[in-house]
Amino acid sequence: MRRFLRTVFLIDLIEGLWVTFRTQHPRNICTDQYPRERPKIAERFRGAPRLNNHPETGETLCIACNLCAIACPEALIVVSSERNEKTKRKELTDFTYDLSRCMFCGLCEDACPVDALELTQDFEIASYTRDGLIWDRKMLEEGPRPARYKF
Ligand code: SF4
Ligand code: SF4
Repeated sequence: MRRFLRTVFLIDLIEGLWVTFRTQHPRNICTDQYPRERPKIAERFRGAPRLNNHPETGETLCIACNLCAIACPEALIVVSSERNEKTKRKELTDFTYDLSRCMFCGLCEDACPVDALELTQDFEIASYTRDGLIWDRKMLEEGPRPARYKF
């Protein structure tokens, strides 16, 4: 009977409308005015990947060990390298990272023994094309350059 009366008198609808109107005051609005106001990014946020270079020499820190590619559950990292015949060491030639398949779990970053690969706090990584989400070594070293709007 109670259920019937609630249906007849549209009680559920009225209650729903009351919740809506109750939260219309401007103090309840919590929309970020992006890009006018840039959001605060949490300290442990994992965003755009970066391939770090040595701050003094500018040489890549990556030793082409391939551990990040092995650790990735999506197998989206491809590390290319060749052996330097003089030093007998592997040297990085290219690095491909398919952001469109990345779930930002951080396993690749954790696997890197030399802190060359890092998931940064950069979050503006949208692209108009799928190809635009496949980052090469140059892009990974330089980082994204999102448009900055002036108001
Ligand atoms: S964050 Fe996770 S899914 Fe993305 S590349 Fe690293 S290991 Fe793979
Ligand atoms: S784990 Fe680190 S050092 Fe090894 S290939 Fe990946 S980025 Fe380079």
